[in-house]
Amino acid sequence: MMTTINPPHTVLKLAKTLEGAGFETWCVGGAVRDAMLGKQNLDWDFATAATPDQVRKVFRRTVPVGIEFGTIGVLDEANVMHEVTTFRRDVQTDGRHAVVEFGASLDEDLARRDFTINAIAYSPTREVVHDPFAGEKDLRAGIVRAVGAPADRMREDRLRALRAIRFAARYGFQIESRTWDAVVESAPHMTRLSPERVRQEIEKVMDQVALPSEAFAKWRDSGAFGTLIPDIAGATALQLRAIDHLRRPILATRPQRRVLRIAMLLAAAPAGRAAQTLKALRFSNATGSWISSLLDALAELEPPMRAALASPAGASDADIRRWVSTAGRTRFASVLRLADARWWAEREAGSNAPSSSSVSSLHRRALRIAYRDPVELSDLAVDGTDLQKLGITGPALGKALHSLLDAVVRDPSLNTPDRLLALARSRSSGTGPGA
Ligand code: ATP
Ligand code: MG
Repeated sequence: MMTTINPPHTVLKLAKTLEGAGFETWCVGGAVRDAMLGKQNLDWDFATAATPDQVRKVFRRTVPVGIEFGTIGVLDEANVMHEVTTFRRDVQTDGRHAVVEFGASLDEDLARRDFTINAIAYSPTREVVHDPFAGEKDLRAGIVRAVGAPADRMREDRLRALRAIRFAARYGFQIESRTWDAVVESAPHMTRLSPERVRQEIEKVMDQVALPSEAFAKWRDSGAFGTLIPDIAGATALQLRAIDHLRRPILATRPQRRVLRIAMLLAAAPAGRAAQTLKALRFSNATGSWISSLLDALAELEPPMRAALASPAGASDADIRRWVSTAGRTRFASVLRLADARWWAEREAGSNAPSSSSVSSLHRRALRIAYRDPVELSDLAVDGTDLQKLGITGPALGKALHSLLDAVVRDPSLNTPDRLLALARSRSSGTGPGA
C-alpha cells in the first residue's frame, strides 16, 4: 500500500539532525497513524537510537519530560515541543508501570506498543514506512488489534484495555475479537489503575471522541464501569447517548464541553452521588461541586420545564424567573443544555420530549430575563442589614430574605426598598421576635 505522509518541515529537520549525528530516527505513534487516515495530528513523536543524553547533546533546546522512560522534549524554532524517545524494551511489567531498558532496536520498540495501528514507523528523511505488524492494513479495515498476544499485552498494562475502547470509538473501528476478550478479561484487574489515570482516560474520551456513548457502552459492557465507577455500571443506552448531543458550540472551549459531558455521564449515577464519585476519581473540588450543583438543579427543574414546554401555554416569564433563580444565573444555561441533550436522546428513541426549537426559544428568553429581572438574593433592593433594622434577626433573617426573593421572582415590580420593607414588616409582624 502506498501512502503519502507529509510531515511538517520541522519534523523532517529534526530527524535529519539526529541522523546527521549518526542516530537512526523514525516518526511513530499517533501522528503517523492519523496522517495515514488523512487526519491532522500535531504531535509528531520520534523514536531514535540515540540515548536521552545524546539527544540532549544534539539539540540546544530540550526539556527532560520523561527522562527515566527515555523521553526528551525538543523545541523547534516555533517553540513547538516534539517528544523524542530512545528505542526501548520492557524488562518488567506490573499491570501499569514498566521498567524499560535502552539499547533496543526499532522492531523491539514497535513490539512493545499497544495496537498495530499505533505501531507504524515512518522515516521522514527516506520517506519509507516500516510496519512489521501490518498496522496500515488494520487502519484500512478499521480494526483495533493488540500487537502480539492480546491477553499478555493487557496483563502487562491494564490501561491498554481502556485505550483500545477509546481508539475504536474515536475512529469508528471494531475491536478485533481476541483483543476484545482481553479487554473484558482486564476489567476486574483495573483496580491497578490509579484514579488519576482513569480520570485522564475519561477526559480524553470526552475531548477526542465525537460520540462518547460508543466508548462508554463498552466501558459498561466490558465490566470496566463495574470495577472503576460502580455508581454508573447500570447506565442505560439513553443516558449514555445524551452525552453525544453535547457538542461544542461556537465560542465554547473544549474544557467547557468536557465538563458538561462529564456531568451528563454522572447523571446516570443515583441522585446525590456525583460529588463523591468525582472526588474518588480525583477531579478537582471545584469541578466536583460545579457538576453536582448542575445535577441537583437538573433533577429539580427538568420535570417542570418539560411540563411547561409541553403545555399549549408554554412557560411564563415567572416560570422562567423561578427556574433561573433555582439554578442560579450562572448555571441555568448549562442545566438547560443538559436537559436538552437528554430530551434529544429521548426523541431519537421515539419518546415524547420538548422539541429543540422550544428549547432554543426558552434559552433566548431565559438569557434576557436572567440579566433583566431579579433572580438572586443579591439582586434584592434590600439586604440583611435593612431587615435587621426592622428587628428581624437570626435564622428568621435568611428565611425573610428568601421569602422576599420568592415574591420578586413572582412579581419583579415589588423590587423597590419601600415595597420590600413593607412586605417584610407585614410578614414579620405576628411571627416576629418573641412570637
Ligand atoms: P493521540 O493522538 O491521542 O496522542 P497517540 O497514539 O499518539 O494518540 P499517545 O498516548 O500519545 O497516543 O501515545 C503515543 C504512542 O505511544 C502510541 O501511539 C503507542 O504507540 C504508544 N503507547 C502509548 N501508551 C501506550 C501503552 N499504554 N502501551 C503501549 N504503548 C503505548
Ligand atoms: Mg500522541
